[in-house]
Amino acid sequence: MEKDNVCIDCYNQIDKVSKVLKLGQAELDILTIPKRILTFSFPVKLDSGEIRYFTGYRVQFNDSRGPTKGGIRFHPEVNLEEIKTLAFLMTLKCAVVNLPYGGAKGGIMVGPKRFSEQELERISRGYIREINGFIGPDIDIPAPDVNTDSKIMAWMLDEYEKLKGRHAPATITGKPIALGGSKARDFSTSMGGAYVLHEFADSFDMKPKKTSVALQGFGNVGMNIARILHEWGYKIVAVSDSKSGIFNKDGLNIKDVINHKQKSGQLSKFKNSKNISNEDLLELKADVLIPAALEDQITKKNASNIKAKLILEMANRPITPEADDILLDKNIFVMPDILANAGGVVVSYFEWVQNSMNFYWSEKEVLDKLKTYMTNAVKELSKVCTDFKCDMRKSLYINAINKVLEAERLRGNLK
Ligand code: GLU
Repeated sequence: MEKDNVCIDCYNQIDKVSKVLKLGQAELDILTIPKRILTFSFPVKLDSGEIRYFTGYRVQFNDSRGPTKGGIRFHPEVNLEEIKTLAFLMTLKCAVVNLPYGGAKGGIMVGPKRFSEQELERISRGYIREINGFIGPDIDIPAPDVNTDSKIMAWMLDEYEKLKGRHAPATITGKPIALGGSKARDFSTSMGGAYVLHEFADSFDMKPKKTSVALQGFGNVGMNIARILHEWGYKIVAVSDSKSGIFNKDGLNIKDVINHKQKSGQLSKFKNSKNISNEDLLELKADVLIPAALEDQITKKNASNIKAKLILEMANRPITPEADDILLDKNIFVMPDILANAGGVVVSYFEWVQNSMNFYWSEKEVLDKLKTYMTNAVKELSKVCTDFKCDMRKSLYINAINKVLEAERLRGNLK
């Protein structure tokens, strides 16, 4: 088979489970060679009248379980290898929470802060003109990702519908509610993580009121999970953003913290709190640690100082592989990113279902269903964990890869 398109990093990802799963060459090919790769460049007129070319990608990794699904990111360092890996990880993410989807990811090499709103609109529309023949409700369904939001999804959907000459809201998820978006989509990633933590803490007999939480990252995901866990009675002892962090061993009132941050633009100087650095926050003596900011925060340098009992990875890859081994030796339980932050794509799936039925659910209906999907996935994984006697991350890979390979086998693509 022609292997020019192989995803090298996917090999590294699979490495940890290829022996347990006894993967042969045919299986490895399926798991490392994306089904379709689109690389293109397109012209956009800037406000100055100048024409600039932008590079875009869309990788549709595997569609054996359903149409491919995944976000589109805007970032100056977007590159094809990264998008391939992220599309592979979306395939696993959808499988692990039992959505009838495969995985995809897309991106534009663009630093969004450097362009006006009108320019961003033209860039978004230009991207859709390039991929419109390869997306659709039964083919591939884009959504927001890093630096993209519901406004950008609205432009993208509008461009798609203009090109096709008909309404097709189920082509893109993460839309504004007025254009067919789902209730709760804007905080669904945080809510999904909170359900996972709740289920997980319960199995450790950790009651919310007696469970302390340290949280790194106060963007959309971090702020919302802090708010939800505080409402459920968890004691949030520390939070931080990219500039500063605050700590109170008796717990912070997160509602007031959010007000303070909205008014003053910062976390520091919050009443009854001490300042804490991001590094010290990670090493606090709290029961639960939630990294919800950037990659590579827990490394071989600080892993041995981590004191939490549970780590919920809301950010993507906040723990390096070397640090993962150290945490495992220390018996620290890690709930991996692919499941912890899957709430977004689960509610994207609900959005697609609602668009397809033209029948819309209340916020309560959406959240009840989200809870079922997230807690079932945790239960399923815990069982794999016991059966295979391995950690959550390996169990997740085993579980998701088995589902993808089963679908390929049933289609006759594997013996
Ligand atoms: N970008 C989000 C993710 O990586 C959401 C994807 C989606 O909703 O399709 O999970």
